[in-house]
Amino acid sequence: MNDDASSDEPPGERSGSDATDDAFTYNGGRVDPGESANIRYSISETYLGDPVKIPVTVVNGAHPGPTVFLSAAAHGDELNGIEVVREVAHDWNHAELHGTLVCLPVMNVPGFLAQERYLPIYDRDLNRSFPGREGSTSARRMAHQIFTNFIEPCDLGIDFHTSTRGRTNMLHVRASMDDPTVSRLANAFSSNVIIAGEGPAGTLRREATEADVPTITVEMGEAHRFQRPLIDRALTGVASVLAEFGCHPDSSVHWPGWRTVIDDDDEKTWLRADAGGIVDMKRGRGALVEEGEVICTITNPFKEEDDIVTVEAPFTGLIVGVLENPVVYPGNPLCHLVGLSADTLTALERERTTERSQAEL
Ligand SMILES: [Zn+2]
Repeated sequence: MNDDASSDEPPGERSGSDATDDAFTYNGGRVDPGESANIRYSISETYLGDPVKIPVTVVNGAHPGPTVFLSAAAHGDELNGIEVVREVAHDWNHAELHGTLVCLPVMNVPGFLAQERYLPIYDRDLNRSFPGREGSTSARRMAHQIFTNFIEPCDLGIDFHTSTRGRTNMLHVRASMDDPTVSRLANAFSSNVIIAGEGPAGTLRREATEADVPTITVEMGEAHRFQRPLIDRALTGVASVLAEFGCHPDSSVHWPGWRTVIDDDDEKTWLRADAGGIVDMKRGRGALVEEGEVICTITNPFKEEDDIVTVEAPFTGLIVGVLENPVVYPGNPLCHLVGLSADTLTALERERTTERSQAEL
């Protein structure tokens, strides 16, 4: 982008004199229409007293339109979303953008530096700390800075995550489908799978949605990696959302070919190990498994026949999430299997027949 202003200090004075203008304003700064800014915004201080600054890119389009946030790495080791947000912010041409993009590629900076999921300060979960509060814990103070400056001014948002370490998942959307705008946003992202539900208290998507900033979570792949096919799918989803909400009015909304919405009361199961041991996983994320099909076996170090535990699919369904680290205690999750309607099953099988060579979803 041209007009990039990279600075440690917020430029200009706080706006507010003209509530009708289309400038994006945050504490101490503003980004006017037709401009973009790379900001390092201080949300806390380290043990050395140095500022903890999160990177933020605000792209304010030349034309009026909605303000959309894209955020990633609320969990510091979940990297796929970082690349999605960076490419939208810095590689896309926004000359015809209607509205404003608020890009937050790394929210949990201390976790990112340590390559850990949680804030390394007493292992606090930043994604259970929203909307945050002044005068509260370190995590809630950080959440408060992010939320008030860069989330609340938005009209809608997308928060990118991956599975936790040792597991992986298909790209899917989590969304409170009872909210009409959230539902519209979730459908526009054009993933094959949407898991409906409001999410736990303190998560960015639930708290933002409750603060009238309809927000979805996108789950994609595993921690500690860039997974290009998933990043490309997510970029298609972002483009589709921007088309749906008029930010890129000349673009079109993408249809994923088939879609299933898993409601909370639908058949939805995390299959858990009933034995400790070493797992031989037969099927990967995105696999369609038949009822009774063997998903994995669990064996002891001696592979003794009598101790082999075979885990079969309790119903025909799609493997949305699966473990990668092949060791379990009894009770550890093996895979997340979701049931599909007959229509969805037919559409999916048709797609699989025509795209047999495509290894990843
Ligand atoms: Zn996460």
